[in-house]
Amino acid sequence: MDPSNHPCFNAKIRGKFGRVHLPVAPRCNIQCNYCDRNYDCVNESRPGVTSAVLTPHQAMAYLKFVFKKTKNISVVGIAGPGDPFANPEETMETLHLVRKKYPEIMLCLATNGLGLEPYIDELAQLGVSHVTVTLNAVDHDIGAKIYSLIRYEKRVLSPKTGIKILLEKQLEAIAKLKEKGITTKVNTIILPGINEDHIEDVAKKMGELKVDILNCIPFYSNKGSAFANLSEPPKEVVRKIRKKAGQYIPQMYHCARCRADATGILGEKNSDELIEKIQECSELLEIYDDKRLPSYCPSVYFKNFL
Ligand code: SF4
Ligand code: SF4
Repeated sequence: MDPSNHPCFNAKIRGKFGRVHLPVAPRCNIQCNYCDRNYDCVNESRPGVTSAVLTPHQAMAYLKFVFKKTKNISVVGIAGPGDPFANPEETMETLHLVRKKYPEIMLCLATNGLGLEPYIDELAQLGVSHVTVTLNAVDHDIGAKIYSLIRYEKRVLSPKTGIKILLEKQLEAIAKLKEKGITTKVNTIILPGINEDHIEDVAKKMGELKVDILNCIPFYSNKGSAFANLSEPPKEVVRKIRKKAGQYIPQMYHCARCRADATGILGEKNSDELIEKIQECSELLEIYDDKRLPSYCPSVYFKNFL
């Protein structure tokens, strides 16, 4: 396992090594105003979209197929379609299964950070080498505009109250990831009129925390989300924001806004064969013993979860 062969963290090898996301985490513990996880579209590449949700054992069946068909996969990641730590049992079981069967593979996670901290010791023991936390603001008033609810310890909190806990937990988790020597990336969505003038502050704080890389992602409008009518930031604005942020922390420029089931080289679409296989794996009855996953509909999970 060579940590420099992670295509998201090392732009130089992004065309050489690929990653596979195992979509084992359907529920989420917050609602970001830019997120909609209600449908699958094979032509759409963005977080929250997947062709199927898998149980940990179904994910292993899919992974076996992926390794047979796709060469040069260096990383197995979990990135939704909800949040890995709103589904900690499925997430941790999957990581344990993957680590046992493939001791040499790199493991990666992408999370909003709210439920991450209690699992960091175990993640470090498992050899999870890369974690991404999406953090959009280090100011409570700005953050409160970005989320419509935050669920913490069985309480559903308003944005104003919830942002204080979300930010506290995110900062705590990031500091601990660094303490454990885990390579840490922060994703920040550039939201015009909301946080676009605040990203320098985020970069400064992340630099102080010694975060390895900051990925400033231009907002992408999702139909059905609260921010569906927000405009996307012009390229020039994005360039300036990244330049300012780059004074404090290295920048990522090659993010492909991956789906929760993205497989292969960054930016390439999942093949029809992979889509068929992931759907087939999600129907494997002999290991389909999890009553929490009846049929795929994230909005239903989300409502049930609340
Ligand atoms: Fe969507 Fe991720 Fe936000 Fe959850 S944390 S609402 S899955 S973008
Ligand atoms: Fe990890 Fe995100 Fe890259 Fe997936 S897209 S491998 S979760 S950094």
